[in-house]
Amino acid sequence: MKFGSTIISSIEFNGKISLVIFMGGCPLRCPFCHNEEIIKIEEDTSLSEVFKIIDKNLEYIDAVVISGGEPLYQLTELKEILIYSKSLLLETKVDTSGIYPNKLEEIINLVDYVSIDVKAPFNKYKELIGENVGEDVKKSIEIANKSKNTYVECRTTYVPSLLSPEDIEDIAKSIECDEYTLQQFRNQNVIDKSLRDVEIPNPIELKSIAGKVKKYFKVVRVKTSEFGCEIA
Ligand code: SF4
Repeated sequence: MKFGSTIISSIEFNGKISLVIFMGGCPLRCPFCHNEEIIKIEEDTSLSEVFKIIDKNLEYIDAVVISGGEPLYQLTELKEILIYSKSLLLETKVDTSGIYPNKLEEIINLVDYVSIDVKAPFNKYKELIGENVGEDVKKSIEIANKSKNTYVECRTTYVPSLLSPEDIEDIAKSIECDEYTLQQFRNQNVIDKSLRDVEIPNPIELKSIAGKVKKYFKVVRVKTSEFGCEIA
């Protein structure tokens, strides 16, 4: 499989220590993506190598988070990792762009927590990331919400030059989920070099935008490099 790296994290799976596995590959090229190296990985790593990393960390972790890249790009391998993690009684989380609703449906019963990117209002995807995939993302959220045992998070990276506070309100009005997270844009190593000059939104600004959409969700969080993950 195309495999990037792993880290241990205390913020990727609320309240749990997780092993985060970054899977390679993604068909999108979001201008603000800072994982270009991971999405372009060519070399193959065997699944058994990945299982060994899980085994090695087993005594420290409660959960496995599979991120990317786009994990659903490698559906077979993703499914194997989820089955293996479940066999070890670990909880599972998948981070996805939501562009593969049919693939998501195939694995959702193995997923305790799914985090789906809502990169733009659904009708603005083409304008923002160059691909008209808003309807697929919408369908993925519906599939995730139908899965009774899956906690559903939707999250948006707030890029000031591409999104406005009104866009965030439009997104909030159009989705249903257990939790919504507004993430701080980082301007380093982004695919679109012109975004390197865009100022990183400050935490106060993000909290103010998050405050306006609190009424639409049970939980709203703001994720910044300064303060980590905070309830808005
Ligand atoms: S931000 Fe996510 S969906 Fe977009 S190109 Fe990067 S890995 Fe793919």
